[in-house]
Amino acid sequence: MPTLETRTNAKIESTNRLLREIDIPIDTNGNPMKVSEYYGENVFNFATSTDIPENVRKEILNVASSGSKISKEHADIVANAVTKWATDKGATHFCHWFQPLTGGTAEKHDAFLTIKNGQAIERLSVSQLLQGEPDASSFPNGGSRSTFEARGYTSWDLTSPMFLTEAPNGKTLCIPTAFVSYTGEALDIKTPLLRSVSKVSNEVTRFLNLVGKKDVSKVDVTIGCEQEYFLIDKDFYYARPDLVMTGRTLLGCSSSKNQQLDDHYFGRIPDRVMGFMQELDLELHKLGIPSKTRHNEVAPGQYEIAPVFSAANVSADQNQIIMAVIKSVAAKHDFVAILHEKPFAGINGSGKHVNWSMSDNSGHNLLEPGENPHENLLFLSTVAIVTESVFRHAKALRMGIASAANDHRLGANEAPPSIISVFLGHTLEGIFENIYSGKKLSAKDGDTFLETGAQQLAHLLLDNTDRNRTSPFAFTGNKFEFRAVGSTAAIGFPVSILNAAIAEVYKESADFVESEIKAGASIDDALLKITTKWVKNAYSVIFNGDGYSSDWVDEAEKRGLPNLRTSAEALKVLTDEKESAFLVETGVFKRSELELRYEVLAERYNTLREIEFSTLISMVNQTVIPAAINYKTELSQIIQRQKSFNLECSVETEIYKKLNFALESLYANTNNLSATVDGLEGDTEGISDKIANDLFPQSEVVASFCAEVENLVPNTLWPLPKYSEMLFLR
Ligand code: ADP
Ligand code: MG
Repeated sequence: MPTLETRTNAKIESTNRLLREIDIPIDTNGNPMKVSEYYGENVFNFATSTDIPENVRKEILNVASSGSKISKEHADIVANAVTKWATDKGATHFCHWFQPLTGGTAEKHDAFLTIKNGQAIERLSVSQLLQGEPDASSFPNGGSRSTFEARGYTSWDLTSPMFLTEAPNGKTLCIPTAFVSYTGEALDIKTPLLRSVSKVSNEVTRFLNLVGKKDVSKVDVTIGCEQEYFLIDKDFYYARPDLVMTGRTLLGCSSSKNQQLDDHYFGRIPDRVMGFMQELDLELHKLGIPSKTRHNEVAPGQYEIAPVFSAANVSADQNQIIMAVIKSVAAKHDFVAILHEKPFAGINGSGKHVNWSMSDNSGHNLLEPGENPHENLLFLSTVAIVTESVFRHAKALRMGIASAANDHRLGANEAPPSIISVFLGHTLEGIFENIYSGKKLSAKDGDTFLETGAQQLAHLLLDNTDRNRTSPFAFTGNKFEFRAVGSTAAIGFPVSILNAAIAEVYKESADFVESEIKAGASIDDALLKITTKWVKNAYSVIFNGDGYSSDWVDEAEKRGLPNLRTSAEALKVLTDEKESAFLVETGVFKRSELELRYEVLAERYNTLREIEFSTLISMVNQTVIPAAINYKTELSQIIQRQKSFNLECSVETEIYKKLNFALESLYANTNNLSATVDGLEGDTEGISDKIANDLFPQSEVVASFCAEVENLVPNTLWPLPKYSEMLFLR
């Protein structure tokens, strides 16, 4: 446990760090290279590799876009080419890199070194490229309730590029893979995501073909993630057992200044942080990750990075890499990057805005409004279909972002609430209002149809700058932004769920449009009808007001929108056959995979909370209570001395009493919490409910008494770094 000395040293160290300078890549003339000159140097590129013949390159591109399988013969050529490329660059090992259900990534390294006829050579065999067998028993697999064999294998995903990671003393080739059990169940995040993406492609393509877009043969889901994080000096971090054990502060008084002045957001980036961001961008660019924006976020010590969007699967992998690189580069600058959704009470938490759209094979963004009435009808139907999907599957979407950490953001009056609603902005809302209230609409008459002006829709939307930051799911000009996703989330999971919902509604929409057209309707009329159908049905999910206000909670309840406040509640969607039916019917998940996910995610929720409780209890007993007792001892000595001189000591006595009361309450509540934790028993679901409904609120009471004690104990007797130091000193 930290001592006063640790805290004092952290203050000195954090403010005296030398700025880290790095070697910027230079060309042969000694001039700094442009980003475009080193961009992607650590990813293996099929398109530019000279060791891959043209016919193989073609097959790979075809396989990547059609989802078919590469021949073993051609895979062998790739294996050789990538081995040469990686070992030329100094790689000694390769690994199958995958996303298990824990949310992070996993890798098991093998050396390229092979002994052949007594000779040492570098080699990656075709079977090593195509398939691996990590010991699956240690990965979360849902425990005994799952009926299938939990052992599994990894298999190469050639749609996501292979890349090199650099550690201080060598490089490793990472091969993105899926992770599947021997009985075919997805044990990872990627597999359902890939299924969902191809399902969206099929359903949306069919719809577009029906409404006259005959040349569309494929639709991609595009994703761009804005990643938020905190940076604090490493010495503060290591002096806070709660940050080390749980990723968030379990107790702490807010500093007098936090984010009230709004002076941090988009403010000047401090040099030490800038140095970090520059190195981060350098590393990401070398990895072919198009990092684009960097800025301060709302809370002190909080920052954001966003790359340019790409295909969902690539973006999901890249976001994992971004999180890992943020952490490793931060460490080089003596920072610790905190990705937790709610590291500090009382100031904003961190989210990940997942920008979502679809683009057809000619690169046209389906959420881009067009210049003519027909294009706009198609655009409006797209928005209506997305709105219906979110309305219909709001519970499942809430489930997809559920985690112990994200519960602190959702509905905490400073983040989107756990009620899933859709923000459309002024223009679209006006149009949908007209449609909803049954204004006489005709597809032929663009002007009366859109009183707001069909032709100018594109311009109107561009001007639509009243971005509502409080909405969990917002239309922002030419994409939707799923803002309720947590900062540590593996985006593949919520995106799979969103995609499944979209695919389901697209299928129904295509069926509907097809029968309308068969019955003689024009394409435009059919589009207008399907738009009207969904707008009328899903109208209650559209909300443009302040999502942080308590009025909205009441209003949403009146509208009948679900509000799953805790993860314990939200995760039950996975085992609710009715709510999760679409996930199975669209083929994105198997029923057994949903059951397994319930076990893994609920178990994880329970374990994380239990770690928080035990960390909190030990911090109270070992740090907070002793600090309070030390102060009581000081006070009582003074009081006694004063009394021996027959002097007044009302102030000291008053403080003593207050402290005594806070300490007694703290002690009693901590004992209560401890006893309830010890008495926890039941199945996963029962324990989750108890944690969410009883234990977690109890722990919040303990935290509030800790804050009271911290407020009373003098600075010189308080061993834990304070919010004001962690957030402001660097
Ligand atoms: P803001 O903070 O205003 O929302 P940013 O520029 O920080 O904007 O982030 C917007 C994100 O949305 C970027 O990652 C960007 O590439 C992504 N994006 C833009 N267009 C699309 C699209 N069509 N599909 C998916 N993501 C997109
Ligand atoms: Mg955004």
